[in-house]
Amino acid sequence: MRTIDHFIVGDAGAPTGRTHKVWNPSTGEVQAEVPLGDAALLARAVETAKQVQPAWAATNPQRRARVMFRFKELIEANMQELAELLSSEHGKVIDDAKGDVQRGLEVIEYACGIPQVLKGEYTLGAGPGIDVYSTRQPLGIGAGITPFNFPAMIPMWMFGMAIAAGNAFILKPSERDPSVPVRLAELFLEAGAPEGLLQVVHGDKEMVDAILDHPDIAAVSFVGSSDIAHYVYRRGVAAGKRVQAMGGAKNHGIVMPDADLDMVVNDLAGAAFGSAGERCMALPVVVPVGEDTADRLREKLIPAIDALRVGVSNDPDAHYGPVVTPEHKARVEEWIDTAEGEGGEIVVDGRGFSLQGHEKGFFIGPTLIDRVTPDMKSYQEEIFGPVLQIVRARDFEEAVRLPSDHQYGNGVAIFTRNGHAAREFASRVNVGMVGINVPIPVPVAYHSFGGWKRSAFGDTNQYGTEGLKFWTKVKTVTQRWPDGGGDGSNAFVIPTMG
Ligand code: NAD
Repeated sequence: MRTIDHFIVGDAGAPTGRTHKVWNPSTGEVQAEVPLGDAALLARAVETAKQVQPAWAATNPQRRARVMFRFKELIEANMQELAELLSSEHGKVIDDAKGDVQRGLEVIEYACGIPQVLKGEYTLGAGPGIDVYSTRQPLGIGAGITPFNFPAMIPMWMFGMAIAAGNAFILKPSERDPSVPVRLAELFLEAGAPEGLLQVVHGDKEMVDAILDHPDIAAVSFVGSSDIAHYVYRRGVAAGKRVQAMGGAKNHGIVMPDADLDMVVNDLAGAAFGSAGERCMALPVVVPVGEDTADRLREKLIPAIDALRVGVSNDPDAHYGPVVTPEHKARVEEWIDTAEGEGGEIVVDGRGFSLQGHEKGFFIGPTLIDRVTPDMKSYQEEIFGPVLQIVRARDFEEAVRLPSDHQYGNGVAIFTRNGHAAREFASRVNVGMVGINVPIPVPVAYHSFGGWKRSAFGDTNQYGTEGLKFWTKVKTVTQRWPDGGGDGSNAFVIPTMG
């Protein structure tokens, strides 16, 4: 059995004896195991990070950027290998796995510009002979706790920004697909980063708690499900840390009567079923406006769904592969049962799907459920599988209300040819990221990513200038260089720039 080791400097110490299975979701076989670490292991990693961070922070930003440039080249050179490794543990198809790596790489490209974005602010002559400048300084040691569904992109969102800004970084990736995060850390070292600047510790709740409680970790970025995000946020903040914690999602796609339905169906098929629906920016709810739109859309969706090819993750013709674990497959199928029990109409049923020759794989057929209503549990909660629910809205107002009132507020999309309706929707909807005729509006690396409501706890988004804000603290210096004597002002009065 292959073991996926921690990536820390020196000896990992005595193992806890606890391990986690890493599946190959296409074959249904266990392909490796990962050791689950504890507070003692974390303490070693933190000691190393404390030693290397000051010199890294003192390295001028241009030199730090050069490491990012070399890392970018290495990722590009190793793209195929990374995508295959990712796909074999996650189950997403190879091209989609390349997208996962690419979207993380784009944050590394942004981080290559760190000298520009760290320039700071300067006011010459803020008062008589007085200048003021503000700089952003690194926090020290940052940590990232990441989910299984984007094992390349999300770690790079975090460590790309944190390290470029001058921090050391400890990554605790998902124990379900931990190989790619380790491979990224190896490539980062090869790119010229000092040993120990980026370390990877494996684990589950025990390791997460150790991170949240460690006094020398200044900031924690978390992405995962909402209950855990909220827990991480509370515990981390209680320990005096800076925390950003992104949670789950239930993104809606609004379809106006004037939308180009062929385009919508094509976009929806990819956004609802791509990556087996295991994306926080998937579109698992479609909201056609008006009964006529709903009927026309449903008629076009059925053949499009029937044409989807579910296959092993390295099948180049497959639209999507298996879900990540047998437990997750069982949970998604239970949600379909729940929806049926609540009165949802199962139009296309993916339960009991079996792929010939791969009967043990964790496959679920694409599922379409109509007549879903807001009072249903299966609507309120995240399913995170290849399941598309139709919620019929009477009119535009109801279509704005549905995503706005939902507990999650990550992404939303509207499909229309009407610019006024789109503009009105985008400005009023109570959701963090909006697509207008764009089904998966993940912002580019120089903007930033973050949902609202229970999709994110904390007040800064991932990457872009928001990410930079999260991983740095502002220092403001007010200085004067008098040429002797005083200026005659009363030193007992709060200074003004009079
Ligand atoms: P998860 O919450 O199960 O796990 C996320 C991380 O938390 C993992 O590293 C895991 O080891 C750790 N963890 C698990 N149980 C824990 C516990 N009890 N206490 C402390 N830590 C624990 O999430 P997942 O299943 O890996 O990922 C899917 C979820 O992530 C979905 O809800 C999805 O919507 C969400 N997600 C959100 C975003 C976003 O940016 N909003 C992006 C991707 C995924």
